[in-house]
Amino acid sequence: MSIPFNRPPIVGSELDYLRQAIDECYLQSSGSFTRSCQEALEQMIGCRRALLTHSCTAALEMSALLCGLAPGDEVVMPSFTFVTTASAVALRGAIPVDVDIRPDTLNLDETLVEDAITSRTKAIFGVHYAGVGCEPAKLRAIADAHGLMLVEDAAQGLCASFDGQPLGSFGHLAAVSFHATKNVVAGEGGTLLVNDPDLIERAEIVLEKGTNRRQFQRGQVDKYTWVELGSSYAASELTAAFLFAQLEAAEAVTTQRLAVWNAYHEGLAGLEASGYLRRPVIPEGCAHNGHIYYVILPSSTTRDAALRAFRGAGVDSQFHYVPLHSSPAGRTYGRPQGELTVTSDLAGRLLRLPIWHGMGDEIDFVVGTLRTILGASRCE
Ligand SMILES: *Cc1c(COP(=O)(O)O)cnc(C)c1O
Repeated sequence: MSIPFNRPPIVGSELDYLRQAIDECYLQSSGSFTRSCQEALEQMIGCRRALLTHSCTAALEMSALLCGLAPGDEVVMPSFTFVTTASAVALRGAIPVDVDIRPDTLNLDETLVEDAITSRTKAIFGVHYAGVGCEPAKLRAIADAHGLMLVEDAAQGLCASFDGQPLGSFGHLAAVSFHATKNVVAGEGGTLLVNDPDLIERAEIVLEKGTNRRQFQRGQVDKYTWVELGSSYAASELTAAFLFAQLEAAEAVTTQRLAVWNAYHEGLAGLEASGYLRRPVIPEGCAHNGHIYYVILPSSTTRDAALRAFRGAGVDSQFHYVPLHSSPAGRTYGRPQGELTVTSDLAGRLLRLPIWHGMGDEIDFVVGTLRTILGASRCE
């Protein structure tokens, strides 16, 4: 058997919508599919405004511009995250300040955030790892108490909630990804969610290369011109057409993905009980979206051996992240707050199992292979 790590969900209506977009002869950003996607996202998340972007990275870079980050400013974030959470900040000359993570969810440890705040701190970037909420209400309270912006890196957070409130609706801003490896996909794509109404107008300007094109189109200004720093961040109408098909099926796709996640979770309960591994922890009040299934193994040696053994068995398992504070660019551009012992320890022992929409018999095969790799018996 050969089991890929990831497979994009194709829901069936993508080609029809793409054909419709082509027939409309309007392929740049802000056509009718873009509007439909943005309305669908505003409905799902309850944000004031959703703007489609060509990636989550673009939405993070827009957030850094909208936070007004300047050289020497600081942004508190986890080191256990994808590169662009930090590079969006570093591109503005600001400093990612890496804070350790919680051992249970691997999310930013909210109890350490206040110690990392200095007079240069402008924002907190929280990341919802694996679609599990990173105590967003607590982070928002800390941000508000210190006059900071909260940006949610909700790249993995679509269709998940915390205490009944959708991820992406807690921060002043939030960034979601529709990259082919996420739950709901557009190949490459993303959205910036704006919850703070004061940021809507500027967000449109930053999206439109720093121009007031949107206001001009609405007849609110009589000249179309460069008004502030922005870039080319919008998604094309072709991306929006594909994405609209996916958004219509987002709930169904998430339910299916959760079923796979739950099958892993049940299948691995015995191995956890016998001390071979630790399964993901989902805190009370978190409705996650099954984005990632990972296990924590007893040592990095076991983890690396498991990766090799899985490859030998035709199973593509993976690990991440190289903690940013230990990466070459992270060391250049960032500043670690303390030792980050939990981050370094868990990142070295984490193993991600293949997970995709529609996975079936493969789940048992992966669980069985892992049991063999770890030397456990059949009933564990
Ligand atoms: C995937 C991901 C991103 C980047 O998303 P793109 O759409 O590929 O730019 C950023 N942050 C996190 C946490 C991610 O998982």
